[in-house]
Parts: sequence; C-alpha cells; structure tokens
Amino acid sequence: MKKVVSVLLTVLMTGTLLVCTGCGAKKQLVMATNAEFPPYEYHEGENIVGIDVEIAQAIADEVGAELVIEDMAFDSILTAVQSGKADMGIAGLTITEDRLQNVDFSNSYAIATQVIIVNQDSAIDDPDDLGGKTIGVQLGTTGDIYAEDIEDATIERYNKGFEAVQALLQNKVDAVIIDNEPAKVFVEQNEGIRIVDKEFTVEEYAIAVKKGNSDLLEKVNKAIEKLQESGKLQEIVDKYIKAE
Ligand code: GLN
Repeated sequence: MKKVVSVLLTVLMTGTLLVCTGCGAKKQLVMATNAEFPPYEYHEGENIVGIDVEIAQAIADEVGAELVIEDMAFDSILTAVQSGKADMGIAGLTITEDRLQNVDFSNSYAIATQVIIVNQDSAIDDPDDLGGKTIGVQLGTTGDIYAEDIEDATIERYNKGFEAVQALLQNKVDAVIIDNEPAKVFVEQNEGIRIVDKEFTVEEYAIAVKKGNSDLLEKVNKAIEKLQESGKLQEIVDKYIKAE
C-alpha cells in the first residue's frame, strides 16, 4: 500500500512538474507606474486598478504576455523604462519634448489639462494669480515644470499628488497644480477645496517605451488603435470617469 501511495505521489509530482514547465514560460510585460493617480492608476484594496491598468492589460493581451505592474515613485518611471527594468511606462504620462529625448512615446490615448486646486475661499481664480504664491506639486510632473515658470513662486514638491492636496488643506501651500482628472477625485474626496475654472494647459497622455524599441511600440500602438476603434477605450473611460 505504502509503495502504491509513493508511486502515485511520484506520478502526481512529475505530472505537476511537467505541467509547470509551461507555467513559467509565458513572457512578462512589465508596466512601470505610480499608483497614486486616480482614476488612471490607484490602489483598491490589494489591487492596482484604473484606466491605464486596463489599457496595459489590452496591450499584454496583444503581445501575448502576462502583465506585471511595478508601482514606483513617479520620477523613477522613465528611468525604469530607459534602463529596461520596465518595458513600458503607463502613468498618465504627458508627452513632452524633454521626455522625448529619453524615451519613445506611443500615439496619444487621452487628452488632459493641468488645473489649479485652491481652498474654497481663495482669491486665486486664474493661472496669472499664482505669482509669488507657494505652490504644491508632485515631483517631476508637468505641474512641477509649469510651476517653475511662475514668477517668484515657491514650489513645494511632494512624492504623491495627494500629499500636495493635504498640504493645501493644512494651508501649507496656496495652490496645487495637477492633472484635471485626479484633481476632480481629490476635490470630491475632500471638503473645502475647489478647482479654478481657468485651466493651465492642454496635454496628451501616451505610453513610454525604451528608445528604439519599435517592435513593442508598434504593438502598443496597435492595441491602442484596436481599443479606440472598437469603442472599448471609451467603455473603460466611462467606467472610471462618470459624466458630469
Ligand atoms: N501628466 C503628468 C505628467 O506626465 C502627471 C502624471 C502623474 O502624476 N502620474 O507629468
């Protein structure tokens, strides 16, 4: 009996091993992101979810790979892509001339704006009112770059957009410059703050890949095109952004 059991066990184990040689074979597609940017990428319980995550999953399906999400500081994302630590950066990333020196960008999949969040009773009502003010931004974002151009402004840089908003709630800064969609989420979640009507700039979000990785870039663009043409992209956006 013992022998039978042990033979059975051996068969089972070998079987499992055989099956599992295939398990590890599926290649991985690593996405670098900063999951502090609702509704594009944020934590929901144990998971990282959002518009970008669903787009990344569609790309992984296109490539036939398993999607792996690496959550990191925003200003590490492009370095991770450049060094090959990640295959693609998907993080509500705005295409800029500077960034194009270091990475390649896909076709754009979303339009965004930079907006200003202030306290409800603030006198700031226009980007021109920001001169000489203390401005909170997320380190390394386009909001950070624009703040640098504001005359006599003091810039406070935070690792997470929400930390900048907290600083505003505590009156440590006069305004926060941040992307419009996360701004809406933060304003909805916190009382006493509002978005200034006049927006700053219009930007385009795209996916970053290592310079010269045209093979992946082509697949990324193909996946984006499919998502756009099938109406799936709009479905994803509608799931995360409720119409006003
Ligand atoms: N769109 C902004 C940028 O690319 C902010 C992105 C983010 O904070 N995830 O800099």
